[in-house]
Amino acid sequence: MTAHIIDGKASAATLRERVASHVSHLKQTYGITPGLAVVLVGEDPASQVYVRSKEKQTIEAGMNSYEHKLPAGTTAGELLALINQLNNDPQVHGILVQLPLPEHLDEMLMINAIALAKDVDGFHISNAGLLATGQKGMVPCTPLGCLMMLREHYGSLSGLNAVVIGRSNIVGKPMAQLLLRDNCSVTMVHSRTQNLAEIVSRADIVAAALGRPLFIQGEWIKPGATVIDVGINRIDQGDGIMRLVGDVDYEAAKNIAGAITPVPGGVGPMTIACLLANTVTACCRSHSFPEPAGLTA
Ligand code: NAD
Repeated sequence: MTAHIIDGKASAATLRERVASHVSHLKQTYGITPGLAVVLVGEDPASQVYVRSKEKQTIEAGMNSYEHKLPAGTTAGELLALINQLNNDPQVHGILVQLPLPEHLDEMLMINAIALAKDVDGFHISNAGLLATGQKGMVPCTPLGCLMMLREHYGSLSGLNAVVIGRSNIVGKPMAQLLLRDNCSVTMVHSRTQNLAEIVSRADIVAAALGRPLFIQGEWIKPGATVIDVGINRIDQGDGIMRLVGDVDYEAAKNIAGAITPVPGGVGPMTIACLLANTVTACCRSHSFPEPAGLTA
């Protein structure tokens, strides 16, 4: 049996339509256009691609996009001054500082300098705390996108056994918190975990975010389980052509899983769509407007 392929592109297109329709409502009803400021420091090629894509999709959704491209040698004081300026700008409802930052800049310091209500990446320490304690905050985009796809697939996640592979602050930990909140029984595993295959083989949901190409073997997957592959790895599989692959051995897993996200075309497109959704949510909250359904967890 071949797994149902969870189409992240289609889910992202639906979410972007929902975002665009609410942006149009905000403009018509209140004369307010949600605005997203994106700050890029340095010349990292992958970051430049991500930022361009974010800007394009922000504008396509009818929102304002404010780009701030700073040289690699930007000082901590200069970056903090820009974040402070954006925190105080009423046209800006969301602020994203593209990671990774150059080594001389302290990422956590910069993220925690973003006004909590404008932290559309959901990485601020207080947003992490709000999520961990089941309170309303901004939810990190990648795990939010994964959760939306899982809810779309299952309806209710209550009682399912989930394993989250990877414990990063931006994917693994918030993913586990979201699954807990939806009443899954959650096991978190990481690079020091023993018996990984055995733990994975008991899971109804496998969320893989370890950054190791094709590491999760098809035979580890429980027949019928749902596999959410967050990994994005660029590798040469022997033919000299660089291709994007996930953390799961997709070709093997798709014959055993009940449903699986492909790479590319799975989690990736949902991440940017969730960034747009978070910006609209931030805009609504900052003005105490009613929040539209279906844009957050
Ligand atoms: P990270 O390097 O910060 O964290 C990786 C985690 O995986 C660590 O907690 C580590 O303990 C765990 N790990 C490493 N090797 C392991 C092993 N052999 N067994 C079990 N656990 C292991 O990575 P990250 O930022 O969380 O990203 C993970 C992957 O997701 C990367 O491929 C990244 O490119 C991708 N990613 C994709 C999106 C998206 O939009 N699709 C967004 C963010 C990250």
